[in-house]
Amino acid sequence: MPAPLMHIESSPSLPREADVVVIGGGVVGVFTAYYLARRGVSVALLEKGRVAAEQSSRNWGWCRQQNRDARELPMATKSLDLWEKVAQETGEDTGFRRCGLFYLSQDESELASWAKWRDFAKTVGVTTHMLTAEEATERGKATGRPWKGGVLSPTDGTADTSRAVPVAARGIMAAGGSVHQQCAARTIELSAGRVSGVVTEAGTIRTKTVVMAGGAWASSFCHQLGIRFPQASVRSSILATAPGVECLPAALYTSGIAFTRRGDGGYTLAISGRARVDPTPQQLRFSREFVPMFARRWRSLKPGGLEGWRQGHETLAKWAPDDVTPMERNRILDPRPDLRQINLTFRRACELVPEFRRVTIADAWAGYIDSTPDGIPVIGEVEGVPGFILAAGFSGHGFGIGPGAGHLIADIITGCEPIVDPRPYRTERLRTAAWGKVAEF
Ligand SMILES: Cc1cc2nc3c(=O)[nH]c(=O)nc-3n(C[C@H](O)[C@H](O)[C@H](O)COP(=O)(O)OP(=O)(O)OC[C@H]3O[C@@H](n4cnc5c(N)ncnc54)[C@H](O)[C@@H]3O)c2cc1C
Repeated sequence: MPAPLMHIESSPSLPREADVVVIGGGVVGVFTAYYLARRGVSVALLEKGRVAAEQSSRNWGWCRQQNRDARELPMATKSLDLWEKVAQETGEDTGFRRCGLFYLSQDESELASWAKWRDFAKTVGVTTHMLTAEEATERGKATGRPWKGGVLSPTDGTADTSRAVPVAARGIMAAGGSVHQQCAARTIELSAGRVSGVVTEAGTIRTKTVVMAGGAWASSFCHQLGIRFPQASVRSSILATAPGVECLPAALYTSGIAFTRRGDGGYTLAISGRARVDPTPQQLRFSREFVPMFARRWRSLKPGGLEGWRQGHETLAKWAPDDVTPMERNRILDPRPDLRQINLTFRRACELVPEFRRVTIADAWAGYIDSTPDGIPVIGEVEGVPGFILAAGFSGHGFGIGPGAGHLIADIITGCEPIVDPRPYRTERLRTAAWGKVAEF
């Protein structure tokens, strides 16, 4: 079942040429095209289904610095500032608010890890407050139980996942770029060893620069070009309640369940980290690289079924430019939610915050979260394919840092001072198995 999502119109016709073609209308592709268009670059955004219909509308909407890996923290901080500006720039509300994120715990080792992160964050100017047992219990009184401690990150926030990315996509068109939904990119054309065009199902666009921001589809697309991109996805299930619960803050994490207030007044409920691993041909191919990450998360990952194989996003098949591709056969990656987990999630919500017994489940859906072996995205031009920029593998953190990632890609393409140091995201990692340490949080 798709997550709630605002509909936007596409541009009337596909251009014959563009300075830049961006493939993928998720948060990363949309913000890339948004910042390029605002700089006067001619840019076309291609989306095989609907803008934001995959991960970018299926997530919790957390835009957080709290507990970020050091490599991603600068991008998270810049992204919060950018999120704030999007509403002013577009004149439309993305639902972004610096509502603060609130964490509660009963576990001393979890609290110790948060305190360690707080000490590190202070060194880079990010403020976060550890809460004593008394403070945590007082702030978390909606749960009606005592807590050992907590954290409050006052400058973090959430955005409305049902409208934030579509609003930015309309901003692309307002700034002179174009947006093409129901238009899959099939492959890239190369001339004299560099990008010269993008073949779409509706014709070819001449261009010298392509950004591949296809989320969970990025590796199978790269495979067509002989680019090895180790990527795997896990199926995460999530639900939204009807409005009616008023006693909770906008965003609350506990290890058992997390709550996020939605734009419509309901809550998104999910169990952090819990997901199914559905084996696919691509996952088997890269299994060795993903062992450390999956091993670290063994408590929360459960074996899935053939769902992922059937969806086709992690195929190892190859296709010709005039073939109907897996991206056209599956316009929106919409896996089945794990109903056992949905029921468990709602039960936990009702146990922790009895007010949830008065509301019903309004929607439930799942999303494939695409990841790299070290949990940090890959952003940059791929060695040996001049003009081909890869931006994928956002590893469950991409919604919050989407604006910063898009800005960085626009900086790289236009030769501007990069908004953050691009080195942690280097594509040289694709060359060897030289992946760094797995992201800490
Ligand atoms: C349940 C869940 C909870 C999450 N919670 C959070 C959170 O709270 N905070 C956070 O920061 N992140 C969160 N994430 C992660 C976040 O949603 C993703 O990291 C982010 O949305 C990835 O954005 P993307 O643009 O890379 O990919 P996507 O949003 O998946 O977009 C990729 C798009 O590319 C299109 N596409 C692919 N191939 C082609 C092609 N060949 N031609 C045309 N179009 C193509 C697809 O149709 C798709 O729309 C969560 C994810 C899930 C699933």
